[in-house]
Amino acid sequence: MSSHSSSQRYLSTRGGSYHLSFEDVVLKGLASDGGLFIPEEIPSLPADWASKWQNLSFEDLAYNIFSLYISPSEIPSADLKDIIRRSYATFRTKDVTPTVTLDKEKNIHLLELFHGPTFAFKDVALQFLGNLFEYFLVRRNEGKTGRDREHLTVIGATSGDTGSAAIYGLRGKKDVSVFIMHPSGKVSPIQEAQMTTVMDANVHNLAVDGTFDDCQDFVKALFADPEINKTHRLAAVNSINWARILAQITYFFHAYFNLIRQPSFLPASTVRFVVPTGNFGDILAGYFARRMGLPAEKLVIATNENDILHRFWQSGKYEKKPVHGAEAEGGIPEDGVKAHEDGVKETLSPAMDILVSSNFERLLWFLAYQVYSTESDPIEERRKTAGNHVRTWLNDLKSNGGFSVDSSILASAQSDFESERVTDQQTLATIKGVFTSTSAVLSHGYILDPHSAIGITAAYRSSQRSKPPTTHHVSLATAHPAKFSNAVETALQGEKGYSWHDVLPKEMQGLEDKPRRVSYVKKAEGWQGVRTVVVAEVEAELNAADNAGSS
Ligand SMILES: *Cc1c(COP(=O)(O)O)cnc(C)c1O
Repeated sequence: MSSHSSSQRYLSTRGGSYHLSFEDVVLKGLASDGGLFIPEEIPSLPADWASKWQNLSFEDLAYNIFSLYISPSEIPSADLKDIIRRSYATFRTKDVTPTVTLDKEKNIHLLELFHGPTFAFKDVALQFLGNLFEYFLVRRNEGKTGRDREHLTVIGATSGDTGSAAIYGLRGKKDVSVFIMHPSGKVSPIQEAQMTTVMDANVHNLAVDGTFDDCQDFVKALFADPEINKTHRLAAVNSINWARILAQITYFFHAYFNLIRQPSFLPASTVRFVVPTGNFGDILAGYFARRMGLPAEKLVIATNENDILHRFWQSGKYEKKPVHGAEAEGGIPEDGVKAHEDGVKETLSPAMDILVSSNFERLLWFLAYQVYSTESDPIEERRKTAGNHVRTWLNDLKSNGGFSVDSSILASAQSDFESERVTDQQTLATIKGVFTSTSAVLSHGYILDPHSAIGITAAYRSSQRSKPPTTHHVSLATAHPAKFSNAVETALQGEKGYSWHDVLPKEMQGLEDKPRRVSYVKKAEGWQGVRTVVVAEVEAELNAADNAGSS
């Protein structure tokens, strides 16, 4: 069943398209039937992976993994290697995603994913995606000059994290412009500075005098607008892009190899991965790693109080709103469903404030595929059946606000995953607890950001069920604490040995005083107003490039 033969192909989770190439799915983002792209088969690892891969660098590991998903006929190996090398050269540590041990007794480790340019795990995927976009565009444009060249216009909305990671992924890329809308004055000062101080000509920040929802609505309207789609090739970078999931698979393997090298990892030891989860992208990469053959005993989903996933794993019901007491405070989902529709709760971990998790649809497809058909059914039939189930579930979610699955589907989901829900209070307690306990052993205490603290809280709970010394927990640290001063200050102010100044990395110091470039967009002028700005700024950018003779 493995498909490291020559052609990995992709299909839509809702059954509307099959046999697409990697390039198709990366440039398209979302399938035209509204579904998400997944590989037609999850490749198995080569038989000798454990010995052959164990000492590989992050880059070489990435290359070996990506090669199982991208046919060499699409991206020749030398090119793929070069894309990978450039994508991770921007990281501040040679190891790209190092692991640190937080608790030797409980075998709790932290996989640090925040050493990229914007200090958030999204860099791991978006540095790669930016280079991929450029690679495909430049290849399509071979021999073309000036206005004959295909140009990609990436449009996104952000409440913080995705926007800066996307901008750093795409800055300076040939044949690509990026427009990121943010609600003016409603993004944290450090995140706003990260985005708007990037001066590359192809980076366009749009500050909208409205909410994140307004920005999101503008993005949707632009993607649906026939006029701009005639003149511009639009693309999205939100977490539904398959290349982002793919890029995240690498660090599960990387962390595994780091772990088994440690003396405390015995031959009989097992590992659980714990993932602070919002749109289910990061943990879905862990699911792929596990299905490929990485020996992860379980994947633990850690949610904040926006707990739709946790509720699903408890009940088999996937519902936007719990039956009782939904709070309607209006939150800031990064690329999920609009906040005000049902009430996302605003928490200390804003990157996980979602109502529904877009990538969960991908898991549903694999669950349906496994449960509703057998190995002996023809493969096309099996795929169609899975697609039909997914389409029905997602239609119910849209029209009824939720759906339930059969107990067999739930059982299958539970065999791969467990879940934990963590409140703001618990998040703060963990930041404080970890700082204090590590102060005793390290030269200074370890400071978790609130998202990573949710993972660690869940890891401690899981370690009561699946105990040390046999079990090791690797919990993913998704952001640097400096990005979330509010939670960190609340948890640690006044603690012995704590000072905010020590948290702030030198790259972020003085960032807020640097010159900025941003265009202001009036909400009252509607999405057409945004369209006018986008068209004009792309035009100016291309003109400048023409004049510089740089095409
Ligand atoms: C995006 C994000 C998450 C959630 O990741 P998903 O892939 O959406 O589940 C968690 N923490 C931080 C800091 C993030 O930026």
